[in-house]
Amino acid sequence: MKRALFLLCLLLLFPSLARASQARTFFAMDTVMTVSAPEADSALLDACEREIFRLERLFSVTDPDSEISILNRDGRAALSPDTERVLSYALDAARLTGGALDVTLYPVVKAWGFTTGEYRVPSDEEIAALLTYVDWTQAELTDGAATLPEGAQVDLGALAKGYASDALADILIRGGVTSALIDLGGNIYCLGSKPDGSFWRIGIRDPIDSSAYLGSLSVKNAAVVTSGSYERNFTAEDGHVYGHIFDPATGRPAENGLISVTVTGKNGMQCDALTTALYVLGPQAAAELLPHIPEVGALMVDDGGELWITESLRPFFTPLGSYQSAPIHWIAQ
Ligand code: AMP
Ligand code: MG
Repeated sequence: MKRALFLLCLLLLFPSLARASQARTFFAMDTVMTVSAPEADSALLDACEREIFRLERLFSVTDPDSEISILNRDGRAALSPDTERVLSYALDAARLTGGALDVTLYPVVKAWGFTTGEYRVPSDEEIAALLTYVDWTQAELTDGAATLPEGAQVDLGALAKGYASDALADILIRGGVTSALIDLGGNIYCLGSKPDGSFWRIGIRDPIDSSAYLGSLSVKNAAVVTSGSYERNFTAEDGHVYGHIFDPATGRPAENGLISVTVTGKNGMQCDALTTALYVLGPQAAAELLPHIPEVGALMVDDGGELWITESLRPFFTPLGSYQSAPIHWIAQ
C-alpha cells in the first residue's frame, strides 16, 4: 500500500513517468526516433527498438558487417528476406521513376562526403568517373542473393526508414495496438487513429523556416514521409548550399525546382522511396507521374514557394502561415 502511494505521488509529481512505458525514444539510422503507443507495454516497445537495431545492422553502409556493406565490398552477398525486399522494391521504384531513385548512387553520395560528414565538392571529372558505376539496371537480385558489377555500390538510405516504419507498425499491430504514432526522424507512420478516434494531424515543416510549419495533413492508418535538402546539407566555400538528395543524371545534388516533398499512403517504404524520387524529378515530371500511382497522395513545395498537391489530399490538407495565400497546383489522379 505504502509503495502504491509512493508511486502515485511520483506519477503526480512527474506526469511524464506515467507515459514512460507508452513512448520510447532512441537514436538509430542516424536520426532520433520515437514510438508512441498508449496501449503498448514496455516489452512491446523493447521489441520495436530491437527491430530497428536489427534492420540497421542489415542495411547500414557504415557497419562493415552489414549485408549491404558485404555486397558493396564483394560485389555479391546473400541477403536476408528484409534486405532482399527493400532492394527489390528499390529496383521496382527505379523502373517506375525512370531512374530518379537509384540506389547505386552510393559512390557519388560518398564522394560528396554525405556518409562521413567530411563534405566536399568533387571535380566534374571525378563525378563523371563515379557516374560510370551508377546504373540500377546492372544490379541483379535472384534467389536471395544480389550481385553488383565491379566498382558499383548501393545505399538503401532513401527508403530504409520507410521500411522500418512498416515493420514497427506490424509489430505493434500483432501486439494488439490499435493506435500509435511512429516517428522515425521525418518518416512518420500513423497507426489507426488518435486514441480519441480522431485523425492524426501531422505538421509539415516549412522548408524555408524549419522552425515553422507550412501546413498540416490529417491522416489515419497511413505513412507521412517528407524529404527535402533542408534536412541535411552543407554550405560550400562559395556559399552554395548542397543537399543530400542526388540527381542520378548529373551526380550532383538535385536542384530541379522542388524544395520539399511529402508523400502519404499505406506503405511507408513506397512513400519514402517516392519522396526522394519526386524531389529529383521536379514539379512537372512529378505531376505527370503521380496519376500513375493513385494509392499515394503528394504535397510538394517548389522553389518559388508554390504548392503542388494531389486532389486526393484536398480534404485533408490545411495550409498555415504565409502558405495560406500560396498558389496551389492541384494534381488530378
Ligand atoms: P531521403 O531523405 O529519404 O530523401 O533519402 C536521401 C538519402 O538517400 C541520401 O542521404 C542518400 O543516402 C540517398 N540518396 C540520395 N539521392 C538518391 C537517389 N536519387 N536515389 C536513391 N538514393 C538516394
Ligand atoms: Mg526517401
